[in-house]
Amino acid sequence: MERWILFLTLILPILVWFVVRPLWIGFRRNRIARQPFPQNWQHILERDWPIYQRLPKELKHKLHQAVLVFLAEKKFEGKKGLEITDEIKVLTAAQACLLICNRKSRYYPKLQTVLMYPSTFFSKQTRSQEGASHESYVYRHGESWVNGPLVLSWDASRKGAANPNDGHNVVMHEFAHQLDQEDHRSDGVPNYQFQGNYSAWAPVMGRAYQNLVQAKKKRQKTVLDKYGATHPAEFFAVATESFFEKPLQLWKHQPELYKLLAGFFAMDPKGWGEKPGSE
Ligand SMILES: [Zn+2]
Repeated sequence: MERWILFLTLILPILVWFVVRPLWIGFRRNRIARQPFPQNWQHILERDWPIYQRLPKELKHKLHQAVLVFLAEKKFEGKKGLEITDEIKVLTAAQACLLICNRKSRYYPKLQTVLMYPSTFFSKQTRSQEGASHESYVYRHGESWVNGPLVLSWDASRKGAANPNDGHNVVMHEFAHQLDQEDHRSDGVPNYQFQGNYSAWAPVMGRAYQNLVQAKKKRQKTVLDKYGATHPAEFFAVATESFFEKPLQLWKHQPELYKLLAGFFAMDPKGWGEKPGSE
C-alpha cells in the first residue's frame, strides 16, 4: 500500500511530466503540422516576404508545418488598438519559424505571447550605476524578454520582411534573442546542445565580435550592422539578420562566421538565389 502511495505521489507526476507530456506534445504537434497550409496564408507570404519566394520547395514545406504549430501555440496581442490580422500572425510566425524549421525544433519554449504595437513604441530601461538604478524611456522596434513576451512594431516588422537584402529584419533579430535566451541568459550563446558545433561557437563568434568592435572604432564599412558591436547578444541577433538577408556577402567576407551559423540553423541561404544586385 505504501509503495502505491509513493508511486502516486512521487513517481507518477515525474513520469507524466518527463515522459507522457513530451509524447503528448509531439503527437499534438505532428497532428497540427499535417493540416493543410491555408492558401490565403501562402498568398500573404508570397506577396509580403520576398525571401519566401527563394526558399527551396522542401524547406517551404517544413516552414509551413512550423508556422501551423507556432500559431496553434503562441498568442498574439495587439497594443494601442492594433487589430491582429492573419497578415500580422502569418508574416511574423513565418520569419520566426525560418530560424527553427530545420533545427530540432523547440518552438521557442519560453515564449507564450507576441505583443504587437502599430509602430515604434516606448520602452522603460533600468540601468544600475554606482549602486543607484536609473530609469529612462527609449524608442524601440522590438524587444525580447528572458521570461516575458516578445514585443514588436508591426510597421518595422512589415518593412523588415519587404526588404530582403538590407540585413535589417526586426522579427528575425528578436527571435534570435529568444533562441539565445532559452538558457535563461542573454549572452550571445544560444542553447546549442541540440545541434551544431558548440566547441567552435565561442572562438568564432568571439573573433567576429571583436572584429566588428574594432571596425566600428575605425569607422570601417562592414557587412554586419555595427549595432552588433554593442554586446555579444546583439552580435548574434545582428549576425542572424545578415545570415538570412545578406548570405552571399557574409559568406564572402566572413566565411568562418557564415559556416558556424549555417551549422546552427542547419541551412545554407547563400544557395537560395539572392539577387546579384544585392551584393
Ligand atoms: Zn537586440
